[in-house]
Amino acid sequence: MEISLSSLKAAHAILMDGAPFLRQRSVEIEKFDDDLAALVRHMIEIVQARRARGLAAIQIGVPVRVIVATADGKGLAMVNPVITRTLNRFAVEMEGCLSVPPSQWRKVSRPAKCEIEWQDIIGNRHAEGFSGAWARVLQHEIDHLDGTLITDREPA
Ligand SMILES: [Zn+2]
Repeated sequence: MEISLSSLKAAHAILMDGAPFLRQRSVEIEKFDDDLAALVRHMIEIVQARRARGLAAIQIGVPVRVIVATADGKGLAMVNPVITRTLNRFAVEMEGCLSVPPSQWRKVSRPAKCEIEWQDIIGNRHAEGFSGAWARVLQHEIDHLDGTLITDREPA
């Protein structure tokens, strides 16, 4: 299925857990156009304004496979990210989420390392391994693309 980004109004408000919209599977991006660039710019602004670690497009009402994330003072936007491999060793850390009230933030167990394939905003393909804070935030945001929230996980 193809979604026309220009027909979707990205919201400034963040959808909160309980909204059925957040539970759908976001669709792949097929067009790497100005609308995609504008969406990513908007998402980066929200992450900066909210001092968040990351954001998935669906959290602002746009159900496409786009995430932005920050760690180690750097930022990364990923289009159509796929986790291709995870390390069979887990790490437990506290996680927050703009779509979840702070009272429900929790420790989450995740693979300590993962390999991800993705495209950038002009469609170039990338593959890289991530660990530490990067592995955590990227796995969290990619969960959103499949409708999964930290509240689905038992506190670790
Ligand atoms: Zn989140």
